[in-house]
Amino acid sequence: MVKRPPAPRGGAQRAWLITYPLAVFAVVCFSSFWIDSFADPDWDWSRSWLLAIPFFIAYHVSYRDVFNIVIWRTTFVVSVTDVPLVLAFFFLPPPMVILVVSGAMLAHQLRSRVPVTKLSFNVAKSAAGTSAGLLLILAMPDIDHARADPSAWAILAGAVILSALVELFSLVGVFCLVQGLRTGRDALRAGLSAMTVTGINVVVGLVFLVALKANPWSAVLLAILVAALVMILRSYAEFFRRHTTLADVYELTQAVRDQSAQSGLPDVLLGRVRSLMQSEYATLWLAPQGRHPEVMLTARVEHAGLLDIAPTPDEIRQRAVQAKTALGVGARFPGAADLRPRLQAAKVKDVIVIPLRSGQAIIGTLEAVNRIGDTRTFRETDVQVLETIAAHAAVAVENSRLVDRLRYDAYHDRLTGLPNRRRVIDALAEAITVRAEDEVVAIMLFDVDGQRNVNESMGHAAGDKLLVETADRIRGIADPGALVGRIGGDEFVVTLRAPSIDATIEIATRMRERLRGPMAVGSLTLDVNTAVGVSVYPDHGSDPESLLQRAELAANAAKVLPYGVQPFHPALESRAVRRLGIAADLRRALDNDQLEVYFQPKVTLADRHVVGVECLARWVHPAHGEVAPEDFVAVAEHTGQLARLTESVLVAGLRRCRAWADAERPFAIAVNLSARILLDSRFPELVRELLEEHRVDPGLVTFEISEPGMLSDIERVLPSLYRLRDLGVRLSVDDFGTGASSLAYLRQWPVHEVKIDDSFVQGMATDSGDLAIVRAVIGLSREFGLTVVAEGVESELTLELLEEMGCEIGQGYLFSRPLPFERLEAWLNAQTEPESTPTGEVRRLRAVI
Ligand code: C2E
Ligand code: CA
Ligand code: CA
Repeated sequence: MVKRPPAPRGGAQRAWLITYPLAVFAVVCFSSFWIDSFADPDWDWSRSWLLAIPFFIAYHVSYRDVFNIVIWRTTFVVSVTDVPLVLAFFFLPPPMVILVVSGAMLAHQLRSRVPVTKLSFNVAKSAAGTSAGLLLILAMPDIDHARADPSAWAILAGAVILSALVELFSLVGVFCLVQGLRTGRDALRAGLSAMTVTGINVVVGLVFLVALKANPWSAVLLAILVAALVMILRSYAEFFRRHTTLADVYELTQAVRDQSAQSGLPDVLLGRVRSLMQSEYATLWLAPQGRHPEVMLTARVEHAGLLDIAPTPDEIRQRAVQAKTALGVGARFPGAADLRPRLQAAKVKDVIVIPLRSGQAIIGTLEAVNRIGDTRTFRETDVQVLETIAAHAAVAVENSRLVDRLRYDAYHDRLTGLPNRRRVIDALAEAITVRAEDEVVAIMLFDVDGQRNVNESMGHAAGDKLLVETADRIRGIADPGALVGRIGGDEFVVTLRAPSIDATIEIATRMRERLRGPMAVGSLTLDVNTAVGVSVYPDHGSDPESLLQRAELAANAAKVLPYGVQPFHPALESRAVRRLGIAADLRRALDNDQLEVYFQPKVTLADRHVVGVECLARWVHPAHGEVAPEDFVAVAEHTGQLARLTESVLVAGLRRCRAWADAERPFAIAVNLSARILLDSRFPELVRELLEEHRVDPGLVTFEISEPGMLSDIERVLPSLYRLRDLGVRLSVDDFGTGASSLAYLRQWPVHEVKIDDSFVQGMATDSGDLAIVRAVIGLSREFGLTVVAEGVESELTLELLEEMGCEIGQGYLFSRPLPFERLEAWLNAQTEPESTPTGEVRRLRAVI
């Protein structure tokens, strides 16, 4: 179906307001001239009719050839009708002049099949103009027909100019009435400039007159001259037309290029194409492409905006698109005659369709429909002009789509299609400004656990799949009003309005739960786990950047939490800021062996034997002083220095262990491991080599691995745990109780020892919940045959309780703080006494405790 544009604006009828007075004026003049002529004794019927015939022909011909000529960038409409008018005024009786002029105009208009309104106006206008000229001649002294002297020239010239002015003002009046004052003003300006041509015509007419008076045979010569002139004018007109077209095309392409980076491309393109092609409509059609929907926009003459319709029949457009060539349909295009009925059905006169190319593909069409002017139709040269424009337009369209694409890319993550960090920040900024008093703007940052490991072990394609799948899940479960974005490698953000911080945490916890669950990546099924950091406006920051940063910080902290959701609090920040600055210093400290290892004794509770020590790393930063192990261990984890840190502590421990063994005091050592080091498959081998190098019995070495760290990636740390166990070293679950593992896990893991976290140990004297937990852990561990160690033993009461419950080993300030090697030796000498056993000397705590 071809949608038809609405009918042109009404108002043409208003032309009658001018046509009627003109007609009345002309009829009155004609009648009075006619009556006068009867009174004239010179009136010769047959001679005037005979004379009228060549004038009629001359007029008719001169109406047909109207040329546009550009002189000094002004277009002149060159019409030569004034030439015969000069002669007619001289040779014909007045009523005859009116008859000839209006008759020729009528014939011309009928031939052009113009509407009645326009035909009537044009005929009335010619008749009235001629009548006015005749009135002027009659008002002047009689012309000397025998001599045709300069005074006669002046009168004739005046008459022709007057009639031209009358016609011009009638025309301007009609333009004002029908199309508005602006068009009227333009018409007036154009008409006045054309008066120069009238002047020239008058001079030519007078030269003809003089020649004819001198010798009637000169008519033959003049006819030849006229024919030659017309031919010259025609070729000039064509030359000028091409010249202006070229200039216009150039200007248009400039404008299109300027616009292609902006959104106004169709407006500029179509408006200009329409006026350049002098068509009623100009249409841009773009086929749908990817994200871009179909575009159908049309500029129409005398219509300010663009219409989303097109007058071109679909079949014609499709023909051009399929043939991939320009297609013209209309009177002057014999090639596409079979499509002419389509045009007629759509009430379209003629059309040019040019496909827009992008490489080999056709992305749309540029169309010009209905050449303006009743007698005009599109021709082959018009096709060439539109083709030139279309070539530029295609580039511009591509560019603007590219710009559009770039703009989209600038705000979206390519992999998941989610809004990116920039877009999220913009959206947050907006949300902050429109927040209501009783709500908060919530930012929930989901950090996908183990993403890096997937990338490293299974390749980036698998990692990408995990991200896309996670993005889909988050999008699927997020509130419809929430904005879901991806702001970093494995970080997704969900922002929404919530009633409070607590409500936000609740939403985050719920979402995190729903996000969990197995996800198929390649042949493997992964468990998707996320750590969620929460920050809210206005509590945690005033601008989007810092809110996001704080949510990220909180998410990092959340990674070690069993419940995985952490709201921001200021302590996180100071710690993170400190961590940030010390990465390089830590490297230097490791290079220069500046890390120290302290030792904290482990004591059997039953007989108070010192059975071993835990090796704890210490680092005194040159500027910041003592740095908490949690901090520099985290820095080492994130800056690839974990292996070196672990190795340096292990080596220090093994060296002491060797020394004690050599001194016949076999103390065991315990070394802390980050779960992350277990992901490094070379680590167990390193341990084997070091044990060998230091000739240490593997049974004297315990590795403590924090429960939450171990849990977060148990599948992938298990192989290392088995290999370590096979080496003969002992494995301990550190900080037990802070992770989310059930006690039942203990049996499945290849571990020998459970270390109850100090928070429970310290709480057990006062908190019955903590006491219950400690009791349960001790009971079950013993049942599974695991050694139980209580860390953080600070008081006698705790010690007694632990003893009662059957805990085997204790460690804590009550016995000793972690000490540098020399002070440990001093402590051992002061606080313990030797006791010989079959396996060697054992240090037993003195009786005080
Ligand atoms: P952890 O393995 O739970 O170590 C025990 C922490 O509790 C030590 O803190 C120790 O000084 C402290 N502590 C011992 N007895 C008591 C007590 O009676 N009361 C109290 N309040 N605290 C007590 P430290 O040395 O600051 O170590 C903190 C954490 O840093 C350790 O926790 C361990 O997870 C980690 N860490 C320390 N050294 C290393 C290391 O060489 N490698 C790795 N991967 N982590 C280490
Ligand atoms: Ca430990
Ligand atoms: Ca602990």
